[in-house]
Amino acid sequence: MASQLIFLGAPGSGKGTQAARVVSELGYVHLSTGDLLRSEIKSGSVLGKKVTAIMDAGKLVDDQTMIELLKANCDLSDKNYIFDGYPRNGDQAKVLDSEFLKGTSSKAIYFDIDLDLLAKRLVNRRTCGDCGEIYNLISKPPKTAGVCDKCGGHNLQQRKDDNEETVKTRLGVFREAIEPVLAHYQGQDRLIRVDASASSDAVFNELKQAIK
Ligand code: ADP
Ligand code: ZN
Repeated sequence: MASQLIFLGAPGSGKGTQAARVVSELGYVHLSTGDLLRSEIKSGSVLGKKVTAIMDAGKLVDDQTMIELLKANCDLSDKNYIFDGYPRNGDQAKVLDSEFLKGTSSKAIYFDIDLDLLAKRLVNRRTCGDCGEIYNLISKPPKTAGVCDKCGGHNLQQRKDDNEETVKTRLGVFREAIEPVLAHYQGQDRLIRVDASASSDAVFNELKQAIK
């Protein structure tokens, strides 16, 4: 039976970095709703056009659109997924269980970190536009400025919503909506908290123990 992981955590909590490691070392498939939305925008689709302004402002896309996006992009019959960026509110948590996770075993991992620390992490985040490697200009800078360590590309980009103002909105939206999500999984004994303020290696080790 396939087992599914649900990554919960504030913007900048390190979910995406850890998801990449879990994919390469433990063979899961990464399903990031933020990445899916960004590729819709890039492709110029109708859905992409609908969500551009919402994402640029750091607000949440409506629940129905998110369900459609997930339906089009995941097949739970045989893969082990990491849900990253979904659910973001209590209703989405219920829908995930009733529409997608039926008959599978799943655990939620909460990347626990003081939200006040995150604004700084986010405005310093850069992503390689060629291979997707994630950097932080303060805590994990590339060896040569502007060049990706992993693929050698000269295409380190800042996400459009990683500017100071939008970051503030995103953290506020997260703070407001996360409690019912945590309560949902806690109540069913499916919640594991990891200390996301630790080093990337330490978080990964904690994660590995948790999902065994
Ligand atoms: P972060 O968690 O760092 O803010 P994501 O890449 O997960 O970044 O999401 C970026 C944006 O995509 C969000 O600010 C929101 O507008 C939209 N989004 C992603 N997932 C969802 C979701 N489950 N529900 C509503 N909007 C979403
Ligand atoms: Zn790269």
